[in-house]
Amino acid sequence: MKRVFSGIQPTGNIHLGNYLGALRQFVDLQKDNECIYCIVDMHAITVPKDPETLKKNIMDVAALYLAIGIDPDKSIVFVQSDVPGHAELSWILTCSSYTGELSRMTQYKQKSKMQESAPTGLFMYPVLMAADILLYDTNIVPVGDDQKQHIELTRDLAKRVNGKYGEDTFVIPEGRYMKSGARIMSLDDPSSKMSKSAENEYSRIQLLDSPSKIKKSIMRATTDSEGIIRYDVENQPGLANLLNIYSVVTEKPVEDIVKEYDGKGYGALKKDLAEILIESLAPIQKSYNDIRNSDELKRILADGAEKANAIAEKTVKRVKDNFGLGNRF
Ligand code: ATP
Repeated sequence: MKRVFSGIQPTGNIHLGNYLGALRQFVDLQKDNECIYCIVDMHAITVPKDPETLKKNIMDVAALYLAIGIDPDKSIVFVQSDVPGHAELSWILTCSSYTGELSRMTQYKQKSKMQESAPTGLFMYPVLMAADILLYDTNIVPVGDDQKQHIELTRDLAKRVNGKYGEDTFVIPEGRYMKSGARIMSLDDPSSKMSKSAENEYSRIQLLDSPSKIKKSIMRATTDSEGIIRYDVENQPGLANLLNIYSVVTEKPVEDIVKEYDGKGYGALKKDLAEILIESLAPIQKSYNDIRNSDELKRILADGAEKANAIAEKTVKRVKDNFGLGNRF
């Protein structure tokens, strides 16, 4: 059995990109692996958050994890800051990382753009992410394809530390990226990825969106004036994004969808796509509503934190020992 670890930030607005690019494979991986799924609240505060909203968002993501089919009897589900090992290992890794490599991270460059002085947490984000992964001797990290650079950095850090402090220090993890749907683009600007933080709420489909919001967002989606249905990412990126979403959700190859809509307008495709999305999100929304308001949720997270901590403590002990840290071993 392989160990799987992944995390999602409790920043609200979980969208189709998060689901198709990452979350969906979390569920499948449960079948043959030992899975650990984390709500990375310490990553969330790299951009200042209102405490009450953060608390609510943590429970929202936890409920959504369960609603999409993550089974707490099979997988560990917990909140990052409930396990102290993440912060501890993050510091140890910080001391083996270089400012040069961190300043090359695309996400950091994007998020710190236009600011004279960026928060240090934003800069250290990938090191904390590496700590999350390495803390659990993870083999596989399912993520969206925008996280590739962070996964590569994690591997580099782990190899660097192993070379210096012993090959048994860290297990070298591998990223697992969804083949199709790895990158869902924004509905109003197909040149950027669908994002939680984009201002226009119609730029994304959120998993908990009402049918009318889903319909509106899809009908408004940016396309082009060619009026011909074909898959051409370069010249018709908006349409290609819609076809991609259609294909991933229905599991039909893009070519078949293109054939099916041959001679029909964008309106027909959009209308059907909206219906398909409404239908496929309905069961998730129903089970979300049942779980979100139950007392079970807190108990599941407490139980998850305990299990996660038991694994994390062992890794921290081993790493500290290899580094010659502490006095208690
Ligand atoms: P933000 O847009 O505010 O940076 P985010 O939408 O990227 O946030 P995260 O919590 O950082 O959300 O990501 C959760 C997971 O969803 C990650 O594995 C990430 O790779 C994936 N993901 C995010 N956006 C997309 C997208 N547009 N397409 C595919 N996968 C995505």
